[in-house]
Amino acid sequence: MAEKYDLIVIGAGNSGLMAACRASRMGLKTLVIERHNMPGGAASSFVRGRFEFEASLHEVPSFGEGNELKRIFDELGIKTDMVQTRDSYRYIVNENGKTTLDVTVPHGREKVMEFIDRECPGDHEAMEKFFMACKDMENGLNYFGNSRGNPDPAVMERDHKNFMKIMAMSSGEFFRSIGMSQKLIDILAAYWPYQGVDIERVDASRYIMMLSGYFLDGAYVPRLRSHQLSLAIAERAAELGCRFLYDTEVTGILTKKGAVSGVKVADGRVFEATAIASSAFPEVVYSKLIDNKDLVPKFELKKANARHYGFRAFSVYLGLDASPEELGIKDYTIFITNSLDTRKLYDECEYIIDDIPLLDVCCLNMAVPECSPEGTTEIVLTLSYTEDAWADVTEKNYVETKRKVANDMIDRFEKVLGIRIRDHIEEIEIASPVTFARYMYTPQGTIYGYLSDTWDGMSSRTISNGTEPTVPGLFFVGGHANSLSGYFPTYTSGNRTGFPILGYVMGGGN
Ligand SMILES: Cc1cc2nc3c(=O)[nH]c(=O)nc-3n(C[C@H](O)[C@H](O)[C@H](O)COP(=O)(O)OP(=O)(O)OC[C@H]3O[C@@H](n4cnc5c(N)ncnc54)[C@H](O)[C@@H]3O)c2cc1C
Repeated sequence: MAEKYDLIVIGAGNSGLMAACRASRMGLKTLVIERHNMPGGAASSFVRGRFEFEASLHEVPSFGEGNELKRIFDELGIKTDMVQTRDSYRYIVNENGKTTLDVTVPHGREKVMEFIDRECPGDHEAMEKFFMACKDMENGLNYFGNSRGNPDPAVMERDHKNFMKIMAMSSGEFFRSIGMSQKLIDILAAYWPYQGVDIERVDASRYIMMLSGYFLDGAYVPRLRSHQLSLAIAERAAELGCRFLYDTEVTGILTKKGAVSGVKVADGRVFEATAIASSAFPEVVYSKLIDNKDLVPKFELKKANARHYGFRAFSVYLGLDASPEELGIKDYTIFITNSLDTRKLYDECEYIIDDIPLLDVCCLNMAVPECSPEGTTEIVLTLSYTEDAWADVTEKNYVETKRKVANDMIDRFEKVLGIRIRDHIEEIEIASPVTFARYMYTPQGTIYGYLSDTWDGMSSRTISNGTEPTVPGLFFVGGHANSLSGYFPTYTSGNRTGFPILGYVMGGGN
């Protein structure tokens, strides 16, 4: 007889782990099935020589005392050891070999305001308006999230007018609407790579929430890489009774009487369940996994077809045989671009090109000095693609292309920062979109789920939450789900999805 569970979670990434932990905490008999031999998905680390590299995380907000993620982790009993970075980011614009902007933005409300008064003296009031809008957006999103598609028009009119106005705007529109100068808009736009879409398209609510998270609470990294966080969540879920099956791929989702009834795994075993939480993408579930495609609502197929994938990443992990001081590295996060125009940058990131339009530099030692042996440095350089740029790379030219892009990125780093790192490379690992597709099992190697577009951003997905039913008993968690991608969204949405799952299971699958 097949083993029977209340909930089966497909995938032990951030979202699957949090959904499993919450469900187990609420007493649901839960099984997590993961293809890899360890939890984490993208939230992982790997070792090369004497270096342990962080696989994905540059930074996450909201881990400070009293902030949302910290509260959720504490409440679930998950132990964390997070370190705050010193600044929000350094932003360098270098066009045709000439640096036209070089600023370092701090965090903490007071320090941010001091920075604004110094760099953009006329923007004090606009920035105050920005912080007020952050509160409105937070309240609005909470209200809509909780109303599960049934908001009260009177409450909306009375309490969430500003939210309703801003939610329809792109970030660029919003900044202009509060009278912000173009200089400050350009500086605040530096974070656009974290959303994967230019500021004229990324919805204001998502961008505002991210900025306010980093500016008010700061950015955090785990002392022992994101792998430690993943392990901590998995261990806590296991303590709460959750079972984990690693090295096992789910190859089918089974249905009975119009609802999900279990899963089939690669070796042919079947596990029964009342509910399934999938971190596999909807199109994978609908086209490959589900056994009865007639059950998939047409709207769901249209939605999956209408969406675009978010960034596909290319990362170069470098272990250097000199300390940050010896090299002259002082910053944790540096965004280097060749233009202030985020739309132009977005378009340039469509292809593999020699000039690197966008380079994200992350030096873990600047937050966790002991992350690598004394006298060494760990740096990760990341470049992102907005389309399936690697589709035409063949087996024959793959290695050569990969090395060329990595080389161009190192060149750009050295030229813009005037820091020579090439002679100090002790370990190097290169991950292309193909690597991420293979490891994370995401279409085209997207690392950000679906693109956060103005018509399909955080507010619209939050408002439609619970109103777009899929196959009964099937719940989606992960970067492709309603709260979008990133550590904060996948942790919080995984956790939140535990509640409707409980309702569904307690209701006997209705
Ligand atoms: C290079 C890089 C840098 C990033 N930087 C940041 C950052 O600085 N800040 C930030 O907030 N976010 C960042 N992100 C994004 C963040 O890592 C992701 O949004 C988040 O980790 C995704 O979590 P998830 O649960 O959706 O899925 P994943 O991490 O993709 O996990 C899904 C899991 O499901 C498993 N799986 C899939 N299908 C099956 C199946 N059929 N059977 C069994 N198992 C299956 C996979 O093996 C995987 O382990 C970055 C990502 C990358 C790759």
